Amino acid sequence: MADLRKEWVAIQEKYAPNLHGWKPTDERYYDRAVETRPLPEVRKIQEEKLRLLSKYLWEYSPFFRRKFKEANLTPDDIKTLDDLKKFPVIVKADFVASSEENPPFGDYWSINPDEWMKNGSILYATSGTTARPRAFLYTQHDWQMLSYVCAIDFYGGGIKPGHLVLTTFPLVPAAGAWSPMLGIFRIGVPQIPTGGMHDERKIDFIKNFGVTVLFGTPSYIIHLAKVAEKLGVDPAKDTKVEMIFVAGEAGGAIPSTRKRIQELWDALVVDYPGSTETHPNAMLCYEEAVLSSEENRPPNFHQLPEFIISEALDEETLEPLPPGEKGLLAVTNIFLEGSPLLRYLQGDYIVIDEDWNCSCGRTSLAFKGGLLGRADDMLKIKGVGIHPTTIEEVVRSYNELGEEFRIVIDVNPQTGLDELTVEVEPLPTVPREKWKEIEEKLAVDLKRALGLRVNVKTLSYGTLPKQTLKARRVVDKREK
Ligand SMILES: [Zn+2]
Repeated sequence: MADLRKEWVAIQEKYAPNLHGWKPTDERYYDRAVETRPLPEVRKIQEEKLRLLSKYLWEYSPFFRRKFKEANLTPDDIKTLDDLKKFPVIVKADFVASSEENPPFGDYWSINPDEWMKNGSILYATSGTTARPRAFLYTQHDWQMLSYVCAIDFYGGGIKPGHLVLTTFPLVPAAGAWSPMLGIFRIGVPQIPTGGMHDERKIDFIKNFGVTVLFGTPSYIIHLAKVAEKLGVDPAKDTKVEMIFVAGEAGGAIPSTRKRIQELWDALVVDYPGSTETHPNAMLCYEEAVLSSEENRPPNFHQLPEFIISEALDEETLEPLPPGEKGLLAVTNIFLEGSPLLRYLQGDYIVIDEDWNCSCGRTSLAFKGGLLGRADDMLKIKGVGIHPTTIEEVVRSYNELGEEFRIVIDVNPQTGLDELTVEVEPLPTVPREKWKEIEEKLAVDLKRALGLRVNVKTLSYGTLPKQTLKARRVVDKREK
C-alpha cells in the first residue's frame, strides 16, 4: 500500500502552497493562503486530513492500529471532527509502555525503523529521566514540513529581513533546539548557533556582530544578561538585541518573567510553545506579543489548525469541552509522515477562544492566555494542588534575585506533614544583611499566592545548577 503513504504526503503538499517556496509570500505572512484561510474551509481541510490519517495510522502504525482495535473502531469510524471523541485519548504512559515493549523505537511510529534508515532525517527523544527515552522518527518530508511550520511561527512572531539571529540551545535531540534552526533557514535571515560556546563568548558575539534576535530559555536569557553585566556590557544599552524568542519553560508567558527579560535587554519577548511529541503546536504573533506585553497580561496564542487539531478535554472525564472552558490540551498531529498522532494528551491547560479577532489578520482560534501550565507538573502539597508556574511568577517579580530557583518538597520529621521550601539566589550585588528581609517578604508573597506556608531559603549566587533546555526545578523528597 505504498499509495497511501504517497497520498498522505501529497495532501500535505496540496495544502501548504509555500512549502517549496523557501521564502515568505509577503511582508506579513510566511504563507498567506494558509494563515488567512476562512475557518469553515480550514475545518474541511482538517477533516480531509483526518480521514486520511485514520487510514494511514491503521496501515502503518502498529501502536495506533492496536488502539483502534481495542476500542472496536476501524478507520471508517473517524471521519469528522466530531468523530474524534470516539477514539481513546493517548497518554504519555502509552508511549512509555510501547518503548519498553519494543525497544528502542517503540511502535507508535508510522514509518518502520528499517525504512526510516533509508528515508529519515532526524530523531528527537524525550529526556528519559524517569523512563526509557521515547524516540520520535522524522523523515525527509518531515523536516521540510517542520521547517515550514516553524517558519510560519517565527516569521509571524516578527523575524524579518535585516535581523541577525543568535541561538543559545545546545543541539540535543529535542524540538526546542532544532525548530529555530530549521524555521529560520527558510525565512532568509542569517543565524549564529552558539549552543556549545562559553557564556562570555556568546556575549562577545552578541555585542560585536550586532545580533538583533536571541533564542533561549527564559532563565538562560536572564543568566546571559548577568554575564554581560559582569563583563561591563549593559545588555539594554550596549547590544542591538530587540527581540527574544523563548521556549522550554513556561516563563515566556508569565508576565513577571517576561517583564524581567524585557527590562534587562530592552527587547520584546516572544514565546514559542511546543513539546517533543507535538511541535510547534501554536504560535504567538508579533502584534499580540506587543499588545500583551504593553498590557502586562499573558499572551493569546494562535492555533495552527491545518497542522494540529487541538481539543480541550475535561480533566476528569476526558470528554471534549465547549469553547471558553478550561481543559487539558489533546493534539492530533495531521502533518507528519514519521510520527503523526491521534489524540495525544499533551496535558497543558488551555482555554479555546472562538471570539478573538487578532489585529494580525490570522484566522485561527486562540488559546486564551497561552498554555496555562501542565497538569502533570502540578504538585500536591498538604492536599493542595500547586503549579510551579505560580511560584515562578512570584519569584521572578524580585529584581534582587538571580535567574535560578528551586522548589524542594519534603516531609517535616516532627509533624509528618509536607513542607515546601523555595530556594533562591540573591544577586552578588545584594548585600548579605538584606537577605533576611528578602526571605521574609518572599515568604509572605508566596503564601498569599499559594495559600500555603512556604519556607524561603537564600543561597549564594551560582549554587543552584543552571538549567539550559528543559528546566527541572522541583525536588520532591517525599516517598511516593
Ligand atoms: Zn495575531
